[in-house]
Order: sequence, then C-alpha cells, then structure tokens
Amino acid sequence: MKQKKLKTLIPFVLLAAISGGSLSISSTNGEARTETTNKQPEIRNIIFMVGDGMGPSTTTALRYWRDNHHTRTMEKTTFDRYFIGKQMTYSNDSKENITDSAAAATAMATGYKTYNAAISVDRNKKEVKTVLEAAKSAGKSTGLVSTSELSHATPGSYGAHDPDRKHMDSIANDFYDEKINGHHKIDVMLGGGRSNFIRKDRHLVTQFKKDGYSYITTKQQLTANRSNQLLGIFSKEGLPKMIDREKSVPSLKDMTTAAVERLATNKKGFFLMVEGSQIDWAEHDNDVVSTMSETRDFERAFAAAIDFAKKDKHTLVIATADHATGGFTVGANGNYNWFAQPLKAFKRTPAFISQKINEENNVKKVLKTYIDLSLTHTEIQSVEQAATTKDVKKISKSIKKIADARSVTGWTTSGHTGEDVNVYGYGPGVQKFSGLLDNTDQAKHIFEAIHKGRLR
Ligand SMILES: [Zn+2]
Repeated sequence: MKQKKLKTLIPFVLLAAISGGSLSISSTNGEARTETTNKQPEIRNIIFMVGDGMGPSTTTALRYWRDNHHTRTMEKTTFDRYFIGKQMTYSNDSKENITDSAAAATAMATGYKTYNAAISVDRNKKEVKTVLEAAKSAGKSTGLVSTSELSHATPGSYGAHDPDRKHMDSIANDFYDEKINGHHKIDVMLGGGRSNFIRKDRHLVTQFKKDGYSYITTKQQLTANRSNQLLGIFSKEGLPKMIDREKSVPSLKDMTTAAVERLATNKKGFFLMVEGSQIDWAEHDNDVVSTMSETRDFERAFAAAIDFAKKDKHTLVIATADHATGGFTVGANGNYNWFAQPLKAFKRTPAFISQKINEENNVKKVLKTYIDLSLTHTEIQSVEQAATTKDVKKISKSIKKIADARSVTGWTTSGHTGEDVNVYGYGPGVQKFSGLLDNTDQAKHIFEAIHKGRLR
C-alpha cells in the first residue's frame, strides 16, 4: 500500500516541478494535490503568446522540421514539451462561424465572443475591458510585441477598442489617448507599423516622446536602450519575414526578451502579449517557406519566455493560436510524406526571390543564389515562364509551387479554417488552461490571475 502511494505521488511531484507549481488535474491522491497547491507561487507576471494562424498542422510541420533524421523517433518541439490542451476558436458573428483575428483576440483579451473585425468591443459595439487594462489598473507594467503593425488586429485588441480592425490609425491613437489612472496603458510596444504612428494628421511618436518614452527603429538601438517606457517600430508596415530580415531588424525573440527585461523591473509584475503575426500572413499566401520561417521565429520567442519563467518562478506563460489558416496539410495528393529538407534549402521567401528575379533578369542565377536545391529543367522553366509577365505575384506563385511539390504540402483555402488550436503553457496556475478551453477562458483565467495572484 505504501509503495503504491509513493508511485502515484512521483508523477505529481515531477509535474509540479515541470510546471513550477500546482497541478490540480483530477487525481485520487488528495495528499499530493494539497501539498503541491500550497506550494504554488504567486502569479506576478503573465506572458500571453499568440501564433496567429498557427493551427495544429503548422505545429506538426514544425516537428518534422525539427526532426533529427539520424533517429527513428520524431523529436519534440519546444511547443510539444509544454502542450496542455486545445481551444475552440469560433466567433459570435451573424454571417460567419469561423473567426477572424480580431474577434479571436477580443475573446482572448476580454472574455467576450464578438463579431469578426471587432477590436475589444462586444456585439453591440460597446467597449469591453481587456486583460492588459486590468493589469495596468492593478499597478503592473504592460507590453505588446508583434511582427505585424502594432495596431493590427491582435495587439490592437489588447490595447485599444474599435468597431472595425481596419481603423488602424484610430487603434494607434487609442494606445496614446486611453489612459488608466492618468498613465499610458502600454509601457513597451515593439513591432511594425510606423505609418500608423507617424501620419499627416498626427505624430504619435512625438507625443509619446514628450511623455518620456524612448523611440527606436533598429535592433542596435534596441540593444543599447535602457528605457522602461519604450516604443520600438522597426518597419513602415509589418516586419519582413524572419528569413528576409536585415541585421537591423530584431527577431521576435529579441523583442520578447527586450520587453521582458524592462517589464520585469516592476515589483508588482507585468502582462505581456507577444504575437507571431505573420504565420497567418504566410498561410493566407499559401506560402509554406514563409510559414516555417515565421513559426520558427515564434518558437524561439516562446523558448525565451519559458527560460525567463523558469528562472523567475512567478511567471505564467501561455501560448496558443487565434485560429488556423490556409487549410495547410502535412502531406498531399495521396503521397504519404512531408519533407522539411527542401524548405530549409530556401534562403529567402518566394516573395523576396521573385522581387530579385524581376530586378536582375536572370532567373537561373537568382534561383541558384537563394534556393540550395538542384532544380529540374521543368522547375526552372516554370519560373522563367512566369518571369516573362514581370508580375511578382505570378513569379512568386511559380516558386511556391516548387516548394509545395518538393515538401508535399497541401492548401485548401486562402482564408481561415475552423479547427481547434493547441494550447501550450508553463508556470504557476497553468493547470487552469489544460484540457478543452474556449478562447474566452483565456481572458477569464488571466483576469483571475491578475486580481487574485493565484489560480485554483
Ligand atoms: Zn488571417
């Protein structure tokens, strides 16, 4: 009997060690539960991460990508090691029952299911409180990090309110105008979208600077800067895809780490939302090369957040997606294979390569420079044919076709799809996010964590 008890206890101790705190997942062993719950550290910091469009196929493809070919088993990704459940993503829209990023982010930020395109307003267009705002009210520091424009749907839904996601200028205005207890509500903003902050009608950068914020535009400045209130905008619109980035553009990991370093100086803690925005954009384009580029960028940022949480012990990290995109399939056309290797041969995205083809007028040479594969005569010919149109989109399409065929990737749509998405997590309170969640549960649990400092 004694021996049996010990056996059931061990996995719990292990799990508690992994999660950094309590795990009250249904257990018959009451002893183990009480013991671990009492030890659960206070939740001071929350890092909520959204892989936009990172559906289950995308994270499975990442596993193929990370696989060590010298072993028979498939190695786990960083996400796999922290898998805790999945969530439903549907929105509350009169015409559509598959969500867009705005309605999904509103659900995760406020706990309200709303119509597609809504930025933290409910079905009646009434503004509803976000977890970022609750964190600020509680005296915590706050941050938004994204590879899209900072005023794009996902970061917008955490830091602004608008009946329509298309109003990206007004969303940027909200970041400045909407104050909490007389203070700006977002301390650190790192991402893209300068054109929404520097406009003919308004210069939000000057206004933020006047109020004590540092403004930076390069990775070098990000590294050198020491300010705790920081606006970093690294591109006019969205950031370039990870594999197309110049040295002056930070990675999502760079931005995440820089945000955490600053926010963590607040003893009351922080709330940070990090978005890998362009996994979705790549999938809308049915571009598997860019999909992998952006998913890897997001995985590295997630790993950095986990590293911080492990040392800190008071940080809850949750990563999930808002929906899946593109109908991306791992394998296609009756072929029981999916290959990451040919995709790793791409040094730049098809869009970048197509631009170069148009500029340099030498298809063969450009393909050789940027794709480390021995392409067949037919493959080269297909791109040459597209190049005669001088249409970058058509050239890009011919290159994407090669990537799809070589990797055996399938696509069913240029839009979103409605399947459940995975949830990953680590830290005190993580058990609350396990199993099957609705996207609104993310907000409900985070509000509770902010108000009570614990999740039971
Ligand atoms: Zn999308």
